[in-house]
Amino acid sequence: MDFVCPTCNKQMPRSLQFIVPHTEEHIVNEIKKKHPSWVEANGVCKKCYDFYKNQMRPE
Ligand SMILES: [Zn+2]
Repeated sequence: MDFVCPTCNKQMPRSLQFIVPHTEEHIVNEIKKKHPSWVEANGVCKKCYDFYKNQMRPE
């Protein structure tokens, strides 16, 4: 069964699912701010991970 990214709602192969490491709690918090019902264990796709990671970075 394919993986549906909880933050962009795109369906993709499960191999593209990315679980945010606990060491990157700031990214977890940022995703939760936008998606309050998101659960860490559900993961996000690599694209969303990169997106939120980049948001953390100052201009
Ligand atoms: Zn996504």
